Formats: sequence, structure tokens, C-alpha cells
Amino acid sequence: MQPVLEINNLTTTFFLRQGPVRAVDNVSLRLYQGKSLALVGESGCGKTMLALSILGLVPSPPGKITSGEVLFDGRDLTRLSEKELRAVRGNDISMIFQEPMSALNPVFRVGAQISETLIYHKKLSKNQAREKGVELLKLVGIPAPEKRYNDFPHQLSGGMRQRVIIAMALACSPRIILADEPTTALDVTIQAQILEIIRDLQDRSRTSTVLITHDLGVVAQVCHEMAVMYSGRVVEHGSVEDVLAGPRHPYTRGLLSSLPRLDREQDLEPIPGTVPEISNLPRGCPFHPRCPQKMPVCAEKEPPVFNTGSKVRCWLYHE
Ligand code: SF4
Repeated sequence: MQPVLEINNLTTTFFLRQGPVRAVDNVSLRLYQGKSLALVGESGCGKTMLALSILGLVPSPPGKITSGEVLFDGRDLTRLSEKELRAVRGNDISMIFQEPMSALNPVFRVGAQISETLIYHKKLSKNQAREKGVELLKLVGIPAPEKRYNDFPHQLSGGMRQRVIIAMALACSPRIILADEPTTALDVTIQAQILEIIRDLQDRSRTSTVLITHDLGVVAQVCHEMAVMYSGRVVEHGSVEDVLAGPRHPYTRGLLSSLPRLDREQDLEPIPGTVPEISNLPRGCPFHPRCPQKMPVCAEKEPPVFNTGSKVRCWLYHE
């Protein structure tokens, strides 16, 4: 099967006063039609920066894509002009941001914000855009959509605002949705409804999703593949089933054992320490100061990717 999105050796570098640092380091991933890929890891591991790199939204300066490619529809998105990228964003590839309040403009009615995308990308008339906008609000489960269309963002609850963001992302029937922690700020009932909408889109419209999350429960519910990120690198990548049933990388194991499980009684074991600053990474494997299985080589040389069924970046899998 041909991937709908192909990321090859993508590196995004920030040129800081203390020198260049790689926020995304040599990442290669594929996304297939109707499938969902989870990007998992603690805050500061490079998940959001990878999504911004795909869409050409890296803050520049100081950031810049310094190598690699992002292939979509036979074109390398890293080589497109800002004008060409604007035609892709929101139309072919949409992003659902983490914070609905910061993604919505507080001084415009939500309906106008949805219609704007339709008028810009699909060249609909104002009336057609309104009709479609109301339809989208209905699709994402907003009650009384005709009335809510005229509301300002502050008149809606957090869950409703997130649905509006999803409606905006769906407006042009994108082939890919990048969703950055779309349910983090929501209570569990709304979270379940939003996940249902994402799952439904995958099944009905064959939309592909990249879901950024630190919630492995969400990954298990909606995703097909997962890539675990640490310090800008993908350290483990495989099917959700394989990785959750038999995590290989010590970081993935750490993430899993810090989660409560209903099927067994055990103490939660948080991963010791914190994610290192990308401007101050330790030598060798960036996870080694926190790794319970580190070996002498780990502090000396960064591990390459080993293919063990899942792809794992860890010296434990060196023959
Ligand atoms: Fe741990 Fe070494 Fe593997 Fe890094 S390479 S995760 S330090 S065992």
C-alpha cells in the first residue's frame, strides 16, 4: 500500500545562542490511508515540533528544517513556498490544536471562523459556507448548531470549543488530520465522544490521523501504529498491538509501568528524572541517565535503529 504521507530522515534544527540543537532528529515515518499513527512521549520530546515541521509551521527563525523530506501527493512539503503550503494546510492536511481557546479568535463568531476556511479553500459563497458550517457543527455533536453558529468562543464550554476546532479541521474534508492532544483538557465523557468522532472519520471518510498524545489509553482506543519519541528521536515504532503487548525500549516500558492497570495490582513506577533540555543532551543515548538497563556503551555512543519486529533505537537489541 502506498503511504499517504511519507517522512524521510526529517531533521529540524533550532539555531540558538548556545549553538544548533535538533528538536526533530532524523525521523522517518509513514502514514497510510484511513489509519492512525500515535506520537507518544512526555512533554518536550519533540511530538508537536514534528507535527509543526510536517505543516511548515516551525517558528523561523530560530527553527529550520535542515534535512529530510515530507512527501505528500508526490510533492515534498519541505520545498513548497509559503503560498503553496497555505493551499495544503486546512485543505489537504488540517491540524487540531491542543488549546481550543488559543486556536479560536475570541472576537469572531465561531461560525464565521469555520466559514472562512470554506470560502478561502473551497471558494463557497457566504450562504453555502454557512450551510456547510452548520452541517459541520451538527456532525461534531453540537446541539442547536444553527444557534451555536452565531456564538462567540467564550459562550461555549471547553468541550464545545474543542468540537468547533474539530469542525474547522474537517471543513475541507482533509486527507490527513494532525491532532495535538485533542482531548487533554476535556473530561472523560467528552473525551470519549471526541475519540469516537476521530474513529468515525477514519472508518467513513478514510481520513488518516496523526494523534499526538501522552495518554496510552487513547492510543489503544484509536490508533493503529505508534511512534514513541524521546529527545526529538523516534525510539520505538511499531503496531499499537505489538508495542503495548511487548514494549522493547526501556523508555516505552517506563511509560507503560507508570500507568495504572485494572488487570493487575501493582505499585506505579514513574520514570526517574526528567526529559533533558534539547540544548543540553547527554552524550550517547539521550535516555541513559534515566535508564534502568543502561550499559557502558550507552553513555558513549548513540544507538542506531534495530529492527526487532518493532523498530527500536536501543543498544539492548544489538546482536
Ligand atoms: Fe537504556 Fe542503553 Fe537502551 Fe538507551 S541504549 S535505552 S541507555 S539500554
